[in-house]
Amino acid sequence: MLEGRCPKCGIRYYGWALLNPEHQTCPDCGIGLYIKDSNGTISEGYSPSVIDKNLFEEIINIVDDEKKDKNRDMKDD
Ligand SMILES: [Zn+2]
Repeated sequence: MLEGRCPKCGIRYYGWALLNPEHQTCPDCGIGLYIKDSNGTISEGYSPSVIDKNLFEEIINIVDDEKKDKNRDMKDD
């Protein structure tokens, strides 16, 4: 059995429905639940408001640029 808990308001949800991304978000707070499985492993649920897809791609682009800079520095040495 899965147990989901909202890190903000503390509301708890139980059941296998927590495996579905649409049930991994607190309806009141709009943030991902912390989901604990039967092994006691805690994972953070799907949270559409926290990571926006465009923002995620932007972060990846920034990381790529930093890698390019590093490669250029190495050539200079
Ligand atoms: Zn909540």
